[in-house]
Amino acid sequence: MDTIDEIIISINHSAASMFKSRSSDLEQRSIQEVVRNPELQKIVKSALGSGDHREGDIVLYQDEESILNVQTTSLLDENERFIGILIVLNDVTRLRRLENMRKEFVSNVSHEIKTPLTAIKGFVETLSHGAMDNPDEAKRFLNIIEKHVNRLVAIIEDFMRLSVIEQKDKSEDIKLEKGKIRSVIKTAIQVCQAKAEAKKIKVNLICSEDISAKIDTQLFEQAAVNLLDNAIKYSEEGGLVQIEVITTDTEVCINFKDYGIGIPKEHLPRLFERFYRVDKARSRKLGGTGLGLAIVKHIIQTHGGYVTVESNPGEGSNFVIHLPKFGYTA
Ligand code: ADP
Repeated sequence: MDTIDEIIISINHSAASMFKSRSSDLEQRSIQEVVRNPELQKIVKSALGSGDHREGDIVLYQDEESILNVQTTSLLDENERFIGILIVLNDVTRLRRLENMRKEFVSNVSHEIKTPLTAIKGFVETLSHGAMDNPDEAKRFLNIIEKHVNRLVAIIEDFMRLSVIEQKDKSEDIKLEKGKIRSVIKTAIQVCQAKAEAKKIKVNLICSEDISAKIDTQLFEQAAVNLLDNAIKYSEEGGLVQIEVITTDTEVCINFKDYGIGIPKEHLPRLFERFYRVDKARSRKLGGTGLGLAIVKHIIQTHGGYVTVESNPGEGSNFVIHLPKFGYTA
């Protein structure tokens, strides 16, 4: 078997294009010479050496990273003599990325749920091992348990929201109808009123009565509530939040501006990812789940829009929902 060399006898167009080459440039040349990839070399050597089926993923770094699944099958002549191998390549870049995202997501979810559960378990054990005899201590522990239970509920509720949007999205059940932006924002302000009052935060709305867009009222209200809730959460007591709706030739832009803690630049690109937080401890303390902005992004995408953010640490943030313009009369 070691008399078999590693010359490419024939390669089809699709396989050659994975190596950014043409078939005619690769045929009759050594595979090790034309594809300089140690993982592929290992698979080919092992398949040629053993005559057995081999399979594995290789990572190619060309213009961009791509992942190929490599499968080999022995080629036999009419006398059943091993004469070489057939290599089948599948581009699995997208699949592997999705798998990684799923794994990362499951690991994040487990972590997020495990943290409060561990705390609850610990405090319940402490209570049952005697702390209940001390009413003050018992009350304190029960308060902590309640806080963690509320956290779990908030996470599950946010998950359900995300899943509702995803379901609606998939079944194309999103009902986008002409709706007045001002009235939806007013409802969102009412939803957040108690929180704003508790922190003595003033919420200003600047929005002309006649601005409308194609919206699913319930979902759009949810997006507005999330952004307003954040603006309140990440502002100091007595602060100001300004919601200003403006229109351009093509868009309705809903600005949620606060003068709170702001966000360092390096965090801005990842802010809308699930569970991404600038300061985990602070977010948890404020009852955040790390899912609020992911929900906003998803909702606005289903509206054919997008969300942007400008922010400076210590000065505040401005989150802007951009919706395609519809029926605005100046
Ligand atoms: P959370 O539930 O933690 O608030 P979000 O997805 O709503 O999660 O937001 C992600 C992170 O973005 C937050 O943890 C916070 O660090 C940051 N953030 C969001 N909105 C604001 C804001 N208005 N001001 C400052 N930081 C913000």
